[in-house]
Amino acid sequence: MTTTLPATAPPVTAPSAAQPTARSATALPTPHFVAPSELVRSGAPITPLAAADWDAAAADIAAIERLKRERDAVILAHNYMTEDIYHGVADITGDSLALAREAQTVSQSTIVLAGVHFMAETAKLLNPAKRVLIPDLRAGCSLASSITADDVRALRAANPGVPVVTYVNTSADVKAESDICCTSGNAVKVIESLGTDRVIMIPDQYLARNVAAQTGVEVIIWPGACEVHEQFTAAEVHQLRADNPGVAVLAHPECPPEVVAEADFAGSTAQMSDFVAGHRADRVALITECSMSANLAASHPEVEFIGMCRLCPHMKRITLAGIRRALETGTHEVTLDPAIAERARLAVERMLAVS
Ligand code: SF4
Repeated sequence: MTTTLPATAPPVTAPSAAQPTARSATALPTPHFVAPSELVRSGAPITPLAAADWDAAAADIAAIERLKRERDAVILAHNYMTEDIYHGVADITGDSLALAREAQTVSQSTIVLAGVHFMAETAKLLNPAKRVLIPDLRAGCSLASSITADDVRALRAANPGVPVVTYVNTSADVKAESDICCTSGNAVKVIESLGTDRVIMIPDQYLARNVAAQTGVEVIIWPGACEVHEQFTAAEVHQLRADNPGVAVLAHPECPPEVVAEADFAGSTAQMSDFVAGHRADRVALITECSMSANLAASHPEVEFIGMCRLCPHMKRITLAGIRRALETGTHEVTLDPAIAERARLAVERMLAVS
């Protein structure tokens, strides 16, 4: 069951690509947004990067490998990174949860986070003594920019005693105001671990609605959204099935519930990867960011991947050239207010203890 925000909640604005909600001290520049029509890969088979593309990337890859050794650095890359990063230079790959976990185990003194800003902040939270670099400060996220710490405080005031469960796709400021974090892969488990009959779940309204459908806990939602996953429609999935008989449709839970309802399987990027690795289908369409399909297609040539995806303009800010520059110049280093970091770390660590 879900509950919309009460009248006493602060005025909210649905996240807008053109006008991201203002954030506090960690505000990011407005990213460049590509028109949706340019982002869709629909119905076409997804093929791995061509040999010529790898040739073009070879000089950057060789330089990055040398710099990693010289600067004692490790590269953590999200599943939405392009193939040249994901398969070319990443030392550790995964979804938000996996990267958060792995960030705690690396021995190198420098972590380069090939992902968006909140992921780099999370790596810093869990590794305060390490230098954490993000190659492009403009790599934001529509979910993270949809809510501020003041918004969370107002939500608490309007719902006394109700715990706040915060998706990791948020700033450290927002995490610091939360009881516990969650990812798309562990949200149900985290919510049920609290033992309450109501929770506030921020900031993704679609993830919250999809999670609420799987638990008896009442979920109070915030109207944030992933600008990538909210674009998918149930009609597109219908057409995809009509055009590709037998295709298994895998949807990310940041998609609207009517899209998830049309899918054969819903799960985080890690859970989708496990589905493909388990050879549960010969032909799949991943309703998520495009690079996820491309990366899995390269790893699983025995599976046919049908394009049904959108590109995240924030994730695409991270490039091989940017990673090379980050290692060469030590930019951009992530810094956090120690008091905020301490409280945000607690929320992340509580999640890790439950997961
Ligand atoms: S895909 Fe969506 S949730 Fe992920 S970084 Fe992009 S905008 Fe944020």
